[in-house]
Amino acid sequence: MKKSVLLLFICWITVCFSFGQSPIIPSPVVYKIAVGKMSIANHFSINSENLPAEIKDFLVQKLVDTYSIQTVISASGSDLTFKKITNTPPDFYSITINDGVLIQYSTSASCFYAVNSLLQLIEGEKDSYYFSKAFVQDYPNFQWRGLHLDVSRHFFSVEEVKRFIDLMSLYKFNTFHWHLTDDQGWRIEIKKYPKLTEIGAWRDSTVNGHYSASPRTYSAERYGGFYTQEQIKEVVAYANKKFITVVPEIEMPGHSRAALAAYPQYSCTGKQLEVPGLWGVFEEIFCAKEESIDFLKDVLTEVLTLFPSEYIHIGGDEAPKTRWNTCPRCQKVIRENGLKDEHELQSYFIQEIDEFLTSKGRKLIGWDEILEGGLSPNAAVMSWRGFEGGIEAAKQKHFAVMSPGSHCYFDHYQSKNPNEPTAIGGFTPIEKVYAFNPIPPGFSEQQAFFILGGQANLWTEYIPTMTQLEYMTYPRALALAQVLWCKQKPPFEAFKKSFVDYHLTYLKRYNVNYSNALFYSQLTIFKNKNGLKLNFKGASKEDAFQLETRTNEKNSQFSENSYITENDTILLKRSKDNQIHTFNFKLTSKNSPDPAHFELKIHPAIGLPIELITKPAEQYKGDGALTLVDGVIGVTPWKGNEWLGYDTTQIEFIVDLTRKVKIEEILLNFLQDDGSWIHSPESIQISVSTKKKKWRNLQIQQFIASQSANAKKAGMKNAFEQNINLKGRFVKVKVNCLKYIPDGYAGEGKTPWTFTDELILLYKE
Ligand SMILES: [Zn+2]
Repeated sequence: MKKSVLLLFICWITVCFSFGQSPIIPSPVVYKIAVGKMSIANHFSINSENLPAEIKDFLVQKLVDTYSIQTVISASGSDLTFKKITNTPPDFYSITINDGVLIQYSTSASCFYAVNSLLQLIEGEKDSYYFSKAFVQDYPNFQWRGLHLDVSRHFFSVEEVKRFIDLMSLYKFNTFHWHLTDDQGWRIEIKKYPKLTEIGAWRDSTVNGHYSASPRTYSAERYGGFYTQEQIKEVVAYANKKFITVVPEIEMPGHSRAALAAYPQYSCTGKQLEVPGLWGVFEEIFCAKEESIDFLKDVLTEVLTLFPSEYIHIGGDEAPKTRWNTCPRCQKVIRENGLKDEHELQSYFIQEIDEFLTSKGRKLIGWDEILEGGLSPNAAVMSWRGFEGGIEAAKQKHFAVMSPGSHCYFDHYQSKNPNEPTAIGGFTPIEKVYAFNPIPPGFSEQQAFFILGGQANLWTEYIPTMTQLEYMTYPRALALAQVLWCKQKPPFEAFKKSFVDYHLTYLKRYNVNYSNALFYSQLTIFKNKNGLKLNFKGASKEDAFQLETRTNEKNSQFSENSYITENDTILLKRSKDNQIHTFNFKLTSKNSPDPAHFELKIHPAIGLPIELITKPAEQYKGDGALTLVDGVIGVTPWKGNEWLGYDTTQIEFIVDLTRKVKIEEILLNFLQDDGSWIHSPESIQISVSTKKKKWRNLQIQQFIASQSANAKKAGMKNAFEQNINLKGRFVKVKVNCLKYIPDGYAGEGKTPWTFTDELILLYKE
């Protein structure tokens, strides 16, 4: 196998090709360039021999629609010829561009990949297009290269879904995970149960703005839509022509409010509830009784006729057990099957579905919660709460797809620019996506065998339109394509150069509304011994950073309306008057249409050294200890990078005031966003010391949000505040987090998240 590949390679070395920067994304295994061009004449002649029909149609259409290049297809065409080869790695292809183009491929899919690579190699302008002479050899690393789309929270038309698939195919993704059902809408016609779409596809209202906005308001507009079975078949056939498998997701037992609005008899209580217009997790889920499971098997029977995919996704995530705990029918199933608890009942539920799918020759895949209570024999796991679910599955010799929130959630923010449109939270810039590796460190080759690949998820609570969908997907999807395709991906800077040199133009050709986040000017905050240092890095010469207003504070070197540009740095000193001051900055950037406004709070604790005894979670570690005292107050709705996020039951850190002072007061802000399982803590203990040897402990205080003038001045909406009035140099903060999410909240009974930022200390010499 390896020998034939090597032979091809050697024969081209003799024609003086040399390694070059590949314009192709994802980067091919080999890209070599030679001197000279091959011009692409109008009436480009394509040899039809060995060219699969659907690929011919695709190529001809792309050349004429995107480049206005007319083609002539015949058995004697010589500009582009194809050859099928054997004995290669899976989905192998090569492209040789000399005086003509020769594509050699092993499978129809790889022929399609080759054609897509070739399209990316077109250079020049209309009427003078050309290829640079080059040699490409390529094959993918992972077999599951996926993008997910949630059409429940917001609905996307058949045409929009096709466009999403079309753009995926340009970057060699091969799996489209279609999230068809959820609480806020059922989107697939099921003939046996017409009310699923008559009732379940429509909601009477939708929450405005972010979930955690207060007060919460709703637009009272009827919203919804669904796909008929004919339309589903059309989309599946469309994707198939682009060598993309559509994996449908039918959520169970949770995220089922839309289905239960249509058929309440399959819930535990039978109570008639509406299709909700609010995001989150709901207690009403499918009952585990036989009738409910039979209903879902009926639904899946129709689903299987529409989707030929090997895997069928059944959700399995975020199913609160509140109803199951008290439902006589669920308790009866537990007793009769000798189950230990409701977690084992969920496992029993999934196993019933697993057996059903297996009997139909299909495989079940579900979110990592399906591990709880025991993994069903044939199930594959999609790991979203981190890597652990995928690691556990692989160790049990089950297949897994890695889709961790830390790297693969494209509904998160992608830049720190305050003008970013509202997103769910979280911070996943393109650099982070690029750093993703689906194979966990320390995995053996045998364990890695069970990792099918990776996938990015596009949950659409805050993605109401196609324009916004493209903005959130691109260019992050290009980084993910690199991760999943390349065995050894080039360094990020090389990828960025390819993107800038070739793919900005390429995406523009397809009118993709990509994000410019990579080209925004950047403001970076550093710690300084006297406070903070701000570094401004303009992305272009026109970019500038300017102080607009500030409250009465005279010790800064920075005055109103003074600009800094390019690589300037300014110093912001800790306030000496023991007050909290507000500085408003404006950042103008050529690449972002509106100026961005930043607010910094200059207070007596900015830039102070802090020892984080408890480490924040990897995906919410912000800029470490500096995040707590960087003058950027954590906001609601959260943007993902200005808070420190913990999933521990206690948080401990020590602030160093650098000398003995009289400490008067502490303010510490927390995030309350129960839809995201983020809760205020239970209580806090403050201790003071001069040499970190003996600590004077203040009384533990229950957490109560302060309404004081200082909290307001600091812009803290949910702050803990305590008078200290002790002399000392070190302040120890011990936060006792809630141990369990209280009843009635999303994720009840689980460990909540605790998010904190900013810390303010008031003190005198
Ligand atoms: Zn029940």
